[in-house]
Amino acid sequence: MLTVLKPPKEVTEDLDRNRKRFIWAGDKEISGGKCKVNWTRTTLPKENGGLGILNLDKFARALRIRWLWHEWVLPNKAWVGSETPCDEKDRLLFAACTRIQVGNGQRIKFWTDAWAQGRRLKDFAPNLYARTKGKNKTLAQALHRSNWIRNLNYRHGFNRALLHEYFALWDQANQVELHPSQEDSITWKLTENGNYSTASAYKAQFFGVTKNPAIASIWKSWAPSKCKFFAWIIVQNRVWSSDRLVARGWDHSPTCPLCRCAMETAHHLLAECRLTRRIWTLVSSWIAQPDLHRERWPQSITTIQWWSNITSTPNIPRNASRSLTLLVIWEMWKERNARVFRQYGRPATEIVDSIKGEALLWIKAGDTALANLLVRE
Ligand SMILES: [Zn+2]
Repeated sequence: MLTVLKPPKEVTEDLDRNRKRFIWAGDKEISGGKCKVNWTRTTLPKENGGLGILNLDKFARALRIRWLWHEWVLPNKAWVGSETPCDEKDRLLFAACTRIQVGNGQRIKFWTDAWAQGRRLKDFAPNLYARTKGKNKTLAQALHRSNWIRNLNYRHGFNRALLHEYFALWDQANQVELHPSQEDSITWKLTENGNYSTASAYKAQFFGVTKNPAIASIWKSWAPSKCKFFAWIIVQNRVWSSDRLVARGWDHSPTCPLCRCAMETAHHLLAECRLTRRIWTLVSSWIAQPDLHRERWPQSITTIQWWSNITSTPNIPRNASRSLTLLVIWEMWKERNARVFRQYGRPATEIVDSIKGEALLWIKAGDTALANLLVRE
């Protein structure tokens, strides 16, 4: 459906509402407050710090671009030449993703294909384009006896901008060499075999977005998905800790349920809390890794900084430290919730026992990085 039609905004919004509900609210009604991370961020690819959920608008665009590709590579298809559902943005993206090789000039559209050093003449000379008649002429037709010049409308004279474009175009047109025995051809720049793929057309739309290797590294670790998902939320400071509940005017306990001596923030829970730090000390001696001892932790101000620091602790392979960290923060979060919702707390040694037990289960389930770390004991 997304390929054939350009979906109306309401349709994608409706689909998105259901997907948001699935992620943030189970099957209950969704409200803004339940979405811990905003949707634009959630639909970013994982390497950009998102959850990698499909962005429907961008996916639909990637699918529509397939029409433009087929127009080129399957010129005999019945529908070629009829209207495609593509808009100007689709065409610009298509131009950016493809390279056109000039052959006999019979398939290339003079004004609207990006044959001139990767640019479309309509973008290169927009004022002239507005003044031309044969907007759909092929390259061969336009060059033949300089038809492109005859097709310009001279009625209102040429101002400086038009003249500038005219000479630039003149240069372009003079540089082209047609090869009568060779067909025009096109290459998709983003795949190795030079052919269109939906995945690459989708990805291309995120080229300008900053990468976020720290958050992306969460997904490269071995851990049950629920633990990675939770880590993805907490390192972005998006859990409902007291500081955020206060900001919304919602019910909250004023102090951290783990140590009862500071305001609960995500950074406090992960990095500063007295109980958390005690747990890490016990964990560091359990696996005989003194570098993991809280006294050796570099200073951190944000949750992401803390995550980056602890997962690059010297002498521990990254995949092992990431897995271990995911395990510890998951257990701490469970402890925190038991104290908040069930008024039930355990001493540090018991929490560490539970971490050890859970570690064995993870190893049994395939966490080789963690297994190797424990063997090094
Ligand atoms: Zn605390």
